[in-house]
Amino acid sequence: MAKHDYYDVLGISRNASDNELKKAYRKLAMKYHPDRNQKESDKKNAEEKFKEAKEAYEVLSDPKKRDTYDKFGHAGIEAGMGSGTGGSRGFNFSDVFGEMGDVFGDIFGGRSGQQSQRAQRGADLRYTLEIDLESAIHGTSVEIRIPRLTTCKSCGGSGARKGSQPITCKTCEGQGKVRIQQGFFTIEQTCPDCHGSGHTIKDPCPVCRGQGQVQETKTLSVKIPAGVDEGNRIRLTGEGEAGSQSAPAGDLYIQIHIKPHSLFKREGNHLYCDVPISFTLAILGGEIEIPTLTGVVKLHIPPETQSGKILRLRGKGVPGRPGVTGDLLCRVFVETPINLNKQQKELAKALDKELYNGNHYPKARHWFASVKQFFTKQN
Ligand SMILES: [Zn+2]
Ligand SMILES: [Zn+2]
Repeated sequence: MAKHDYYDVLGISRNASDNELKKAYRKLAMKYHPDRNQKESDKKNAEEKFKEAKEAYEVLSDPKKRDTYDKFGHAGIEAGMGSGTGGSRGFNFSDVFGEMGDVFGDIFGGRSGQQSQRAQRGADLRYTLEIDLESAIHGTSVEIRIPRLTTCKSCGGSGARKGSQPITCKTCEGQGKVRIQQGFFTIEQTCPDCHGSGHTIKDPCPVCRGQGQVQETKTLSVKIPAGVDEGNRIRLTGEGEAGSQSAPAGDLYIQIHIKPHSLFKREGNHLYCDVPISFTLAILGGEIEIPTLTGVVKLHIPPETQSGKILRLRGKGVPGRPGVTGDLLCRVFVETPINLNKQQKELAKALDKELYNGNHYPKARHWFASVKQFFTKQN
């Protein structure tokens, strides 16, 4: 395969500075990084392109080799290196990124290099997703529509019309900054021609108008795992806004909000529900049907149940890891009957008379005794 000119490969001029060289290489490396080219069809091409860029960078970043190359071209380099450099050996991206740590550090490692404001990671996005309790407990899959900035497909994010390349800004020589002499002071300013990007675009991409990014509403299918709770966040790596100049995209955070349930309140893995019962059921005891997340179960109400008593249904709460599945806690309360007719009221009176004597209301008796004592002390 005929070799391309190293300067052309990196898209730089013959007198490009070390800094421009690094920048150009980094940009290509980002573009052809295997993480960004996962489609089988892209992979091969990206790998080839990366190899080419790597080779070009290795030669041009070495002053001696660069000199040889400038004088003798590819032939000079091949003669000097003997056999072996270049494409034929096994190729490993991680090796390259390992050895080139200093070049990529400010992007990959989060070290804040002086160029970090140019290639900016995309913004993180937050999306509040409201789901019902059942979905939170059992897990669900939802489709959400996210308006966001994405890398322009037409120009691949460069902002230059398809087939053309951004060129290094002549005003700042790719630095993104210019120095202005004002009296005794030298002031550093963002380059007015490239606005700090370090390059200019002669022929802007018509799709994104040279921005490299377009606004797009993307439909995402999001899997909500079983057991999520109010306020949980799910991170979708790389689903935020596109980065500028091929920098990585931000992340999308799905914030879970659970709609109030008509029957259940959730606390951790336990579920609570209030259950009204009749006073006769409270007196006599019996069974009632209680809805749970996995179907209806029978709840045994013991005789003489007091209002406010909590009855526990083990394992009927929120499923968790083995052994930590929650319970359903039913708080029963006695509902005082309303709309009684004359006959019903008579029966109530008759019952009350029956219950008046004897130890049927121990709490009331105790309370009245305390009241009596209270007044005695006062006098
Ligand atoms: Zn574009
Ligand atoms: Zn400039």
